[in-house]
Order: sequence, then C-alpha cells, then structure tokens
Amino acid sequence: MSICDNGERMPGLRDIWRARQRIAGFVRKTPLIFSAELSRCLNASVYLKLEFMQDTGSFKLRGAANKILSLPPEQQKAGVATFSTGNHGLAVAYMAKSLGIPASVFISSRVPAAKVNNLKTLGVNVVIYGTSQDEAEENCYETAERDGLTVVKPFDDLYVIAGQGTIGLELLDECPSVNHVIVPLSGGGLAAGIAVALKSGMGDIRVTGVSMREGAGMHSSLRAGKPVALPEADTLADSLLGGIGLDNRYTFPLVRDYLDDTVLVSEEAIAAGMALLYREHRLVVEGAAAIGAAFLLEHGNVLPGRHVVLVVSGSNVDTDAFLAVLQNRS
Ligand SMILES: *Cc1c(COP(=O)(O)O)cnc(C)c1O
Repeated sequence: MSICDNGERMPGLRDIWRARQRIAGFVRKTPLIFSAELSRCLNASVYLKLEFMQDTGSFKLRGAANKILSLPPEQQKAGVATFSTGNHGLAVAYMAKSLGIPASVFISSRVPAAKVNNLKTLGVNVVIYGTSQDEAEENCYETAERDGLTVVKPFDDLYVIAGQGTIGLELLDECPSVNHVIVPLSGGGLAAGIAVALKSGMGDIRVTGVSMREGAGMHSSLRAGKPVALPEADTLADSLLGGIGLDNRYTFPLVRDYLDDTVLVSEEAIAAGMALLYREHRLVVEGAAAIGAAFLLEHGNVLPGRHVVLVVSGSNVDTDAFLAVLQNRS
C-alpha cells in the first residue's frame, strides 16, 4: 500500500487481489491468444488479451463490479448513478440489473436515440438533462447527493482501478514470460490497474499506454505535469475520448509513476489495426481496442524478441463504422 504525494491512499496489489475475489462471480476470465501474424511481422511473441469478451463488450465490467460489490448493502439498495453513455455506463447498468439495485444514467439531450434505447433496454433510469455532457455530469452529482445515490466513476476511483487491475493478475497466470504489456489509455483506470498489478511483483515488465493523436488527455496532462483539459476530436477510438478530470486523484499520479511510456498513434494506424485483427483473427473490435495493434504497426520494430501482450479492450463498434474501416472508406 502506498500513499501518494497528494495524501490519497493508492490502490495496491492487495486491493487487486481482493477485487479478483469479489468480482469472480460476475466477470469472465478472458482468453489470451497467440497472434502468429503480429509475432511474425515483429519478430516477437505477441499475444492478445480478449477483454471484449466480457458481458457488455468491454473490461469496464471489472471495475464497475468491484466498486458496486464493495458498497455496503444499504448503499447498494439506495442505488448507483453514472454519467457515461459508453462502455462504463453499460457496465454499471448491467451490474445493477444483476444485483437488482436501481441505476440512473445521466445524459445530455445530445446523446443519440440508439444509445438511450440501449440503456433503457438494460432497465436503467435514464435522466436527460442539459445540452452537454458536463451539464449532465453536474446534474448527476447533485442528484446523487440529494437522493443518496453512489456515483460510480469511470476511472478515478480506487475500487474501479483495482477491478481493472485483475487483468494484470490473469496475465501473470496465463503468460508468465510476458515482459511488455500494451494498454489503451484514456482516463487511465485500465492502465493504472494493470501496471500496479504487474509492477508490484518481481518481474521486470514494461507497460506502455497508447492513445490517439488528437484528444489524448492523459498524455497531454503528463507532458504538462498536471491534469489539463483538451478539446475533443474525431477519432475511431471514441471510447478513449474525454478528459482525466482537473481534480484527478488517483489515475494521474499512478500512470505517471507506474507506466514506462505513453505513445500516440495515427487514425490510419488504428484503422489498420482493426483491419488486421479482423483479417488475421476474425475479431470485430472497436477502435480503442485496436490501438495496441496500431502501435505495433507504427512502432513495433522496437520490440524484437519480447513477449508482448495487447489488451484488446472492447467491441462496441457500429456495424456501419466497422464496415467502413474494412472497406477503407473511413
Ligand atoms: C474505457 C475504455 C478504455 C480506456 O480505459 P481508461 O481506464 O479510461 O483508460 C479503453 N478501451 C475501451 C474499449 C474502453 O471502453
């Protein structure tokens, strides 16, 4: 257990082991497969950790499950809330439904009807407020305060980070020779959790965080030495959009202290990564999940001989958008 310079207790290996035990009934141990093609191209051993095979289509279920299951029963009964319409929102909604507790998702009037319907199908209370995600988020915190709901944050939470970190424990089991893990990086819950899990042991394992070139909030914050806000950009890796929070408590210091490097990749490389995962492995994944493959395609010649794992994080991609990428129309 460590205390950071901001006085916050940071998640450690013990929190991740506890998370593994807590979420076991809700979360799948995902397969790790060997990629012959990427290994051949890079003259390395490349494996894919298939995290999109969780229910709800992404690893976000691990963090949401750990957070919600750690709440005392009366707090669970009062209900949970979130302001994410993406993979995190789906994971919170799914967990709430599994446990039979109320969940509210706060969104703005700009969220497309298809996403709203998706959430409603999961049985959550959808609260539409304001015209921007920031307004919806503010409303979420105010309502939660008033009604005693617990806001489940998408990444900057000790339990969420520990939940994502359980991927690191699985990797050590499945591939003890691993010495480089490539992780998609947005708010940093995934990367921080995995890095803490892998680096608290004895092995010398590199962890690289990968983001898209435009709108990479964590990368820019690390450069600036403090959390900064960035304008959003159009990207195939839409699940990686969004800032890290100007009042970030956990993931900024953890990513800063535990990751070996953070790199940016082009949109063309992300598209090429998605196409490669489909062509070689018949995987249908979203842009964020292909960003590790994109990194190998753009920068992979720096890894000969290494045992590399790519975390393939999610599969929530629109069919039309996916076909456009395959047909090179994006
Ligand atoms: C949320 C998400 C990420 C990034 O996770 P962070 O913890 O925010 O860094 C990567 N891939 C997918 C598919 C996601 O949904």
